[in-house]
Amino acid sequence: MTPAQAQEKVMTADAPMKDMKEIVALCKRRGFIFPASDIYGGINGFWDYGPLGVELKNNLRDLWWKWMVTCPPIGPDGQPVEIVGVDSAIIQNPKAWEASGHVGGFSDPMVDCRETKLRYRADHLIAYLPSTFDPKDDSNLIPVFMQGTPDDEIEKKFKKIGFHFAISQCETVPFVELEKYGYVEDYGLLLLRKDSSAKHKILKERTVGPDTKTVGTLTEPKQFNLMFHTFIGATGGDENKAYLRPETAQGIFLNFKNVLDSTRVRVPFGIAQIGKAFRTEVNPRNFIFRSREFEQMEMEWFCHPDEAKLWRDFWFAERQKFWRAIGLRSDNLRMRDHDQDELSHYAKAGLGTADIEYRFPFTAPDFGELEGIAHRCDFDLTQHQKHSGVKLEYMDPVTQEKFMPHVIEPAAGLTRGVLAMITEAYTPDPSRPSGVYLDLHPALAPKKAAILPLTAKDQHPVIATKLYMELRGEFAVDLDIKQNIGKRYARQDEIGTPYCFTIDDQTVADQTVTVRERNTMKQERIAIANVAEYLRKNIRAV
Ligand code: ATP
Repeated sequence: MTPAQAQEKVMTADAPMKDMKEIVALCKRRGFIFPASDIYGGINGFWDYGPLGVELKNNLRDLWWKWMVTCPPIGPDGQPVEIVGVDSAIIQNPKAWEASGHVGGFSDPMVDCRETKLRYRADHLIAYLPSTFDPKDDSNLIPVFMQGTPDDEIEKKFKKIGFHFAISQCETVPFVELEKYGYVEDYGLLLLRKDSSAKHKILKERTVGPDTKTVGTLTEPKQFNLMFHTFIGATGGDENKAYLRPETAQGIFLNFKNVLDSTRVRVPFGIAQIGKAFRTEVNPRNFIFRSREFEQMEMEWFCHPDEAKLWRDFWFAERQKFWRAIGLRSDNLRMRDHDQDELSHYAKAGLGTADIEYRFPFTAPDFGELEGIAHRCDFDLTQHQKHSGVKLEYMDPVTQEKFMPHVIEPAAGLTRGVLAMITEAYTPDPSRPSGVYLDLHPALAPKKAAILPLTAKDQHPVIATKLYMELRGEFAVDLDIKQNIGKRYARQDEIGTPYCFTIDDQTVADQTVTVRERNTMKQERIAIANVAEYLRKNIRAV
């Protein structure tokens, strides 16, 4: 652990990390998210959204669409910006993916374990290098783990392989950077600079991979293409090969000209798309964080090259506002500029990429990407113009200037966003029967309210049903009649329903109901006639 990480751990020590296993269990128990093909034992990297999960995901999707397309923000000049939507095909002409660079370059560096045959993302492997590493001592090993492996698992493995150091005595070094570390016989451990000409032995030979006890089974990183392919038509063969899109962005670039020709938009403007994307991730893991089929929410903002910085800063600020407004308020959300060597092929030349990151339980004390705001320069339009032979330059109708627009792209994960929302909302509370509640923003909550008759007898269910019938046209409400009231509150707490209205004997007498607020569990009485107004006021739009 680096000193900075250690300090970060101390700083967050009073806010205990949420338990991922419990979050996953709640998602299944309450019908948010299930493993795909569950009855067949699942399929790695694929997930199904259950009755509540699909509501939550749709709510997040609709809020993004509202913020970006139906009611986009006010721009730096005080005027609303203009963004239109598209919904493009998942399968496009394969030439599009050659032009975009995905066929040739969309790959991750992979490391194989010769013994277990498991495969890892090289940039997700962390080596534990003891600070007193003695290169001459053969028993000095370097255990390697996947990023985010819990400390207790690491310690167990240390013991298993007879590694006599504590985590705190080790420096954590990205596996790919071990190249820079080595030793020269007479000088011991060296941190080699890239230009070093010293003949050294590379420490990689001493590594022990995450799932083995044997030394030196990890291979050199190799590139691995991330695109799923399929065949169009009944006969296979390379000439019929096509790809499932690995991002929604290209469907937007392919329609740039169509949108310009068919609408009245003028640069600067944006085109947005939400939809499925597919990547043959080598290590799908951490629940829905990294899956092979997932959903993205992307917007390509086309602007004059001279204005790229203005718009990049604008969108970076706007996107942060969005995540905060819908509930990611804690210091688990942070903004980070990419280092130069992390940048993708298109971003190197431009203003770079900035990420909005969230500290998930499995990344802590580090953060995982939630959204990237990239300056894609004119890379995509230029490539598609070159490969398709169709002119994609823009002519400014006022100045008559002809140019290839630059692109600022806020690209967010919808499904990853759902995970951030659930994680942030998950609040253990031993004082209530459920032991936990989901503190979801009311705009995201799958159910806005539950109507609970105190008993299933007499007038209670009759009045409850009448209230339910009045509300259901306007709000997603649940009518729950059976079981004792404690169990019913527990269920609503676990699914994040902000309000429960209870109908009891007093309702029959004076036409009032109790409202129970989810987070505080406080109850008050209001007139039954005011329930709809109460919800309207409290379920604030964002
Ligand atoms: P990562 O570094 O995590 O692989 P990326 O930088 O490749 O992500 P982008 O290509 O920028 O991701 O995609 C935009 C967004 O799509 C990401 O910020 C993330 O929220 C989401 N995303 C990307 N890959 C996955 C995946 N395999 N599963 C779920 N969401 C993903």
